Amino acid sequence: MVHIVGAGPGDPELITVKGQRFLREADVVIYAGSLVNEEILKLCKPEAEIYNSAQMMLEEILHVISLAEKAGKTTVRLHTGDPSIYGAVQEQMDAMTERGIEFDVTPGVSSFLAAAATLKQEYTLPGVTQTVIITRRGGRTPVPDSESLKKLAQHQTTLCIFLSVNLLDEIKRDLMSAGFKSSTPVAVVYKASWPGEEKVIRGRLDTIVQQVKEANIDRTAMIIVGQCLNSKNYQKSSLYSPQFSHMFRQARY
Ligand code: SAH
Repeated sequence: MVHIVGAGPGDPELITVKGQRFLREADVVIYAGSLVNEEILKLCKPEAEIYNSAQMMLEEILHVISLAEKAGKTTVRLHTGDPSIYGAVQEQMDAMTERGIEFDVTPGVSSFLAAAATLKQEYTLPGVTQTVIITRRGGRTPVPDSESLKKLAQHQTTLCIFLSVNLLDEIKRDLMSAGFKSSTPVAVVYKASWPGEEKVIRGRLDTIVQQVKEANIDRTAMIIVGQCLNSKNYQKSSLYSPQFSHMFRQARY
């Protein structure tokens, strides 16, 4: 049996209770070494075989899993954040299905959510935006033209941009040419939730490139763009409003 598990964004306490149990019980663990906080591996049994997938190719990962399956062992495939977001997990799941290997998936706290927690920020402010777009700038993995930052930016939603802090200059250019004002607030969170390693940069489209350069941030960072970041003028939600009734509460007047 294989458990695909989201390890969370970095803080070892941000793995789910279920993910933690699978990790404690695993005979074989293959973790995404580029981003998973290795502290979390302290949960593993001393005799567990541990592999760092950063040094492996897909076939090697599948080979380790197949051997474990033949030996009746349990494998945890540990991904950073949540496996469904830029996790390169589909090809692994499809290959396991093809080979008749049974697996399940345990979600994790994605880094865009950890970044919101660090910033103490709601992404979906009433009257400002009700939409969050998760995206990246095209690099070695292309982004379809219909989803270019320029096009997405036209919606003026909250943007959470992964895998792109080294392309911040291009991001700024794209967003400005899509009509974003130079004063649009931007935050960059480096290593959100990692104890003692987190860095937060708050700025505007026209200042952020320089700020991030000065802070020496060139990877493992979330870029958040949008008016939610400095809006004091959002509407209070209906959920807690005295004028509103809902399934669990009557209006007070
Ligand atoms: N599946 C992961 C994302 C993997 S892609 C998730 O759900 O978070 C790797 C990218 O995620 C990095 O380039 C960075 O943009 C972002 N990232 C991962 N961990 C992060 C963290 N702790 N803080 C900020 N960004 C992070």
